[in-house]
Amino acid sequence: KKVEQELQDLEQAVKDYDPKTSTSTQFKELPISKELAKGLTNSSFVSMTDIQKQSIPYALKGEDILASAKTGSGKTLSFLVPVLERLHRAKWSEMDGLGALIISPTRELAQQIYEVLRKIGKYFQISAGLVIGGKNYKYESERVAKLNILIGTPGRILQHFDEAVGLDLSNLQVLVLDEADRCLDMGFKKTLDDILSNLPTEERQTLLFSATQSKSVSDLARLSLVEPRYIGVRDKD
Ligand code: ADP
Ligand code: MG
Repeated sequence: KKVEQELQDLEQAVKDYDPKTSTSTQFKELPISKELAKGLTNSSFVSMTDIQKQSIPYALKGEDILASAKTGSGKTLSFLVPVLERLHRAKWSEMDGLGALIISPTRELAQQIYEVLRKIGKYFQISAGLVIGGKNYKYESERVAKLNILIGTPGRILQHFDEAVGLDLSNLQVLVLDEADRCLDMGFKKTLDDILSNLPTEERQTLLFSATQSKSVSDLARLSLVEPRYIGVRDKD
């Protein structure tokens, strides 16, 4: 009962929130769940970085985002916050299957995202896992079908799409393309196109983050985003 009321209040707070007039500088001023607020505080995340201030308010409202900001600017939380909140507000549970897919160019980066997610998502029931290749393919494929959030590298994600039994993509709510420029530089264009062709488009929100802007990034954006909000944080130097 109490949980139900909290979710309704949160839903309303998101609805009432206007990113255009918002002056939020701290995470706790955003319309987010108390579970996430606690996870962020416990991880010592208090004030938002520029890219977080500019993107999270719109992403929480469900908009597609095309954002570029240099390395170290805080892009990880810019997508993890909206991902967790969207699934939380939808009362996501194991039965609902894959709710969010986060694609990262390298194992190391995927691992880092996973670790941040584990910390800030500590108070959620949502399950998350890494698919990054290496030796544990069989172990991975047995687990992926049960995960709510999948973080991985393009090649391995596509392999699971092709082979994992019971992996249901039809409910996917959020797709994150992190370090999109680097994915493309590494030759993952075709793999990303193939992944995209497997995903539903109806309900899906897509968040595309990149350190640099380029023609190939805008081409990928055109394929994956719907009326995106453009956010560019320029280097101050
Ligand atoms: P990017 O993906 O843009 O390269 P990261 O998301 O990896 O950047 O963040 C870079 C560093 O900044 C990390 O060490 C992260 O913990 C820290 N960081 C990110 N956002 C905040 C914040 N709001 N407050 C304090 N530190 C932050
Ligand atoms: Mg990053």
